[in-house]
Amino acid sequence: MAYKTVNPYTNEVEHEYENTTNEEIEQTLVKAHALYKLWRQDNDLEARKAVIIRLGELLRERRTELAELMVRDMGKLIGEAEAEVDLCASFCDYYVDKANEFLQPKPIYTASGNAYVLKQSLGALMAVEPWNFPFYQIARVFIPNFLVGNPMLLKDAANCPTSAQAFCDLIAEAGAPAGSLTNLFISYDQVADIIADPRIAGVCLTGSERGGKAVATEAAKHLKKSTMELGGNDAFIVLNDADLDKLQATIQFARLFNAGQVCTSSKRFLVPEDMKDQFIAMVKEVFSNVKMGDPLDRSTTLAPLSSKKAKEKLEKQVADAIAGGATLAYQHESVDLPGQFFPPTILTDIDENNPIFDQELFGPVAEVYTYKTEDEAIALANNSSYGLGNTVFGEVKHAREVAAKIETGMSWINDGWASLPEIPFGGVKHSGYGRELSEIGFTEFVNQHLVYEAQ
Ligand code: NAP
Repeated sequence: MAYKTVNPYTNEVEHEYENTTNEEIEQTLVKAHALYKLWRQDNDLEARKAVIIRLGELLRERRTELAELMVRDMGKLIGEAEAEVDLCASFCDYYVDKANEFLQPKPIYTASGNAYVLKQSLGALMAVEPWNFPFYQIARVFIPNFLVGNPMLLKDAANCPTSAQAFCDLIAEAGAPAGSLTNLFISYDQVADIIADPRIAGVCLTGSERGGKAVATEAAKHLKKSTMELGGNDAFIVLNDADLDKLQATIQFARLFNAGQVCTSSKRFLVPEDMKDQFIAMVKEVFSNVKMGDPLDRSTTLAPLSSKKAKEKLEKQVADAIAGGATLAYQHESVDLPGQFFPPTILTDIDENNPIFDQELFGPVAEVYTYKTEDEAIALANNSSYGLGNTVFGEVKHAREVAAKIETGMSWINDGWASLPEIPFGGVKHSGYGRELSEIGFTEFVNQHLVYEAQ
C-alpha cells in the first residue's frame, strides 16, 4: 500500500490506505461529469456559496483537531498547522464574498457591435497536490473551482493521506454533493489515465519540477489546460540599506517555517561582501536557538522533515555541496530523537559549478552568497532555472527598483514570503505557469465565453 501516514516524529505507521480501483475511478468520473453538466445548466452559485460558508465554520470549529492530522502526516509544528487551517477558512470568506464579482460577465464595446464575456465553468479537473501544506494546497484549488462550478478529482501526496481524506470528508459534511471533490489513492499511471479521459477538462498540480514535467506532459498530450506550481531556489537579496533588526526578525520565518519546506522559503541569501560575517552571525544566532522536538509540543520551534526520504535527500545535497567546494559555515548539533530532524545548516562558497547551485534545498539549509555590486546581485538572483518568489530587503523605493529586475513570479519586499487569498501565487521558468489564488487564480479554469451581438 503506497498511501500511508508515517508519523515523522515517531516513525510509526499510523494508517494505511487501500488503493482506489479503476471501477471506483470510473464511478467518480461519472459523478463529477454529471455534476458539471448540472451546474453548467442550472448554475446554483448561492447553494455552492452556502457549502463554502459551512466549510469555513467547520474549519474554525475543528481547528486543532484538524491541525493534529497534518502534524501526524508530515510533522509540521502544531501552531503552524493551526495557522494553515485559519488560512483555509479565510479562503472560504474571501471567495464567497468575491464569487459574484469574479464571475460577472465583462462587457466589450466595439465599432461594429457590442459583446460580453461570460465566465463559465469548464468541467471536472484533476488536481495533484503535495504534502508540505496538506490542507492549504487542496483548499486553494478546490474552493475557487467549486464556486466556479468545476468538480475536482484529487490525487494527494502518498505521505499525507489522512489529511487529504479528512479535508474531503469535511467538504461532504459541509453539504457539497457527491462528486464535488473526491480523494483518490491512485498510482501515477491512473493519474495519466484520468487526465486522458474526455470528461476531464483541466489539470492543476503543485509539486516538484520532476512531477510537474510528467503531469504537464500528460495534460499536453490530450490538449488539457494545466497550471503548474513548482519548486524554486528563491533569492533573498539583502541591500546595503536594509533595516538589520527587521532582517534578523525575518530570518526564522523566511528559512525555518515548516522546517524550511516551503516552495517560497528563502533558499539563497545574497548579501553585500562587507556584510557577510555580520549576516552569517545573524543567521547563526537564529539557527542555534531552535528547539527540535515533538511538533505537537507548543514549545518546539523546529519540526522534523516530512519523511526519511526527504531527510536523506537533503543530507545528500549538503554532502554533494561540500564535496563540490562549498564551506559548511555552521551546523546545529544533531538531536538524539528518533524523528526525521535535520540540523539547521549554513553553506557558503557555492560557485556556479557546485552541483547544488541550481537545485532546490527543501529544508533548514541557508545558502549564503556575497556580491560586490547590485548588478552582480541581480544577475546572481536571475542565474537560476527557477523563478518562484524572491525577497528584497532594503529601503522601500530602492528595494522596489531591484525587485522589478528579478525574473520571478513573486517578489516580497522586507518580508520572507506570504500567501493570502487576495494575492496571486505562482512562478515563471521551471517554477511553473499559471496562478492560484486571487481573481487570477479563481479564473484559471473558467471558460471565457465570448458572446458578440451585431449592430
Ligand atoms: P512531487 O514529488 O512532485 O509530488 C507532488 C505531487 O505530485 C504528489 O501528489 C505526487 O505523488 C505527485 N506526483 C509526482 N510525480 C507524479 C507523476 N509522474 N504522475 C502523477 N503524480 C505525480 O513533489 P514533492 O517533492 O512531494 O513536493 C514538494 C515540491 O513542491 C517542492 O519542489 C516545492 O517547492 C513544491 N511546491 C510548490 C508550490 C508552489 O505553489 N509553487 C507550493 C508547495 C510546494 P506521490 O506523493 O505519490 O509521489
